[in-house]
Amino acid sequence: MTMANGMKRHESAPKPMVKFDRSLIAPCGMNCGTCIGHLREKKRCPGCRVYMADNAVTAQRCIIQKCNHLENTASKFCYDCEKYPCRRLKQLDLRYRTRYKTSFFENLTMIKEKGIESFLEFESQRRTCPNCGSVLSVHRDNCLICSKN
Ligand SMILES: [Zn+2]
Repeated sequence: MTMANGMKRHESAPKPMVKFDRSLIAPCGMNCGTCIGHLREKKRCPGCRVYMADNAVTAQRCIIQKCNHLENTASKFCYDCEKYPCRRLKQLDLRYRTRYKTSFFENLTMIKEKGIESFLEFESQRRTCPNCGSVLSVHRDNCLICSKN
């Protein structure tokens, strides 16, 4: 890829990066593609946006995904909500920042300001296992495939 100043971008990744579909990015800014509920083989959750009534437990527990305010947003992301940032999202963000070193507010800000494609690119970079090229789960410290930390 050639950048604006004519410099070639340094490409150091030995393996291709994982790709995420935009349908995997939940209204709250969570990348469902990195969720352990989506990556596991049994009772696999399709992701919050494609979730249907009797699917995996992980999705059923999410309160934001069922939020009524979401219907009234243009983008179908929480940042467009009149209640943003609501208490639920603040709690969720705090939990993920503390336990999983991921901030939904940061994610949502990036989606809003730089667009979903930029965010997907960012996620590909930080969620590709440098050792085996698999998806790294936000919920685990080690790669699910090669176990590398
Ligand atoms: Zn790996």
